[in-house]
Amino acid sequence: DPEFSEMVLYYYHKAAQTMEPALLKEMEKYPHMKPEERQARVTAILNLLGSVSTSVEVNFPIVRKNGTYEIISGYRSHHVRHRLPLKGGIRYALDVNESEVKALAAIMTFKCACVNVPYGGSKGGVCIDPKKYTVDELQTITRRYTMELLKRNMIGPGIDVPAPDVNTGPREMSWIVDQYQKTFGYKDINSSAIVTGKPIHNGGINGRHSATGRGVWKAGDLFLKDKEWMDLIKWKTGWKDKTVIVQGFGNVGSFAAKYVHEAGAKVIGIKEFDVSLYNKDGIDINDLFEYTEEKKTIKGYPKAEESKEDLLTAEADILMPCATQKVITTDNAKDIKAKLILEGANGPTTPSGEKILLDKGVLLVPDLYCNAGGVTVSYFEYLKNINHVSYGKMNSKSTSELIIELMNSINESMQKCPDNEFPPICPNKKLKRIQQCTTEADIVDSA
Ligand code: GLU
Repeated sequence: DPEFSEMVLYYYHKAAQTMEPALLKEMEKYPHMKPEERQARVTAILNLLGSVSTSVEVNFPIVRKNGTYEIISGYRSHHVRHRLPLKGGIRYALDVNESEVKALAAIMTFKCACVNVPYGGSKGGVCIDPKKYTVDELQTITRRYTMELLKRNMIGPGIDVPAPDVNTGPREMSWIVDQYQKTFGYKDINSSAIVTGKPIHNGGINGRHSATGRGVWKAGDLFLKDKEWMDLIKWKTGWKDKTVIVQGFGNVGSFAAKYVHEAGAKVIGIKEFDVSLYNKDGIDINDLFEYTEEKKTIKGYPKAEESKEDLLTAEADILMPCATQKVITTDNAKDIKAKLILEGANGPTTPSGEKILLDKGVLLVPDLYCNAGGVTVSYFEYLKNINHVSYGKMNSKSTSELIIELMNSINESMQKCPDNEFPPICPNKKLKRIQQCTTEADIVDSA
């Protein structure tokens, strides 16, 4: 039962041993360097990636609805800043602490590299059980946490761009955007790129909310369609009639379950923190979505029975741990029956748990790849925000084509525009008023 951070470091060192010869080979491109200099560089790079660049803890008071005061602790870690901005979610949970957030930030660097999304890795969290707070209190916490990070230059569209994670979603992201825009909005044309995972009307994009779960399905799909991989575990290709158990029915688990269900698999079990559902004939996930929409829980769903068994080790072909870290360990790995594991959560398997699974011949699709759908779609949201382009248009044209088109049209209207008219492309009244304003505050008011 290693500390989560030790576990991530262990996996990193294992990968680093494999990478070292390849990096040394790469350094041969620099013939002027002596072999010992090359080795020193490679060691430095590997050591750098094995540590965390910056990490802050912030503590701030809030007044609860009942008038009492409470000190809230939050964290944000930047793993390595070789690629900016950094990217990583913000989670609200009681087990959040600095060491966990640092380890999760490192995972983000490796995840982004794995799917070739050009970001460094970061992560943040607030140590609260969000169920114990009212919506207004959560809003206060989110805004205060945002201010603490802004004061320390820890977040910004070109620095570090948060996103949803465990127990946070579009609502929390819209509070962060609003807080940022209230503070810097008119000074920063890219202010909506302060976070991704925003509601659509706030600069988000369609598909971001379901993206991590969809990515879990897609990662599984690529393996399940591949005959060579399937031969390894002696399976027929495809999802049809494969039985699936999913742990977690939050943002990742629910959509992962929906897409594998729609692909033809039978989701027979769902393990949540408070209840487990089981139906040997399969659960209709779209129907369960309608139920949870209304009830906000899977508890009491009438078309499946409540199970007392630990579903992680129940009979099923595919297991999708989509909740939290360290759920597959030495204690339960030997009892896991699934032949294919799709890691929807970050770090759900401990190294010793992984060894047991691999020795048993289980095919394990690791988190770095399997849950990278979220950050991949975040990348497109970020591009949309900083390019100030609508994606409806981008479907048919590339960004550069659109920019050239825009520049041409500006050029054309400038030709037509009399010299004294400003601004040339939109000589409407509102903008004329802006021209007359003298201070930035005036501009904001008139806009
Ligand atoms: N929290 C998600 C993850 O762990 C998404 C991060 C992002 O979109 O920046 O990958």
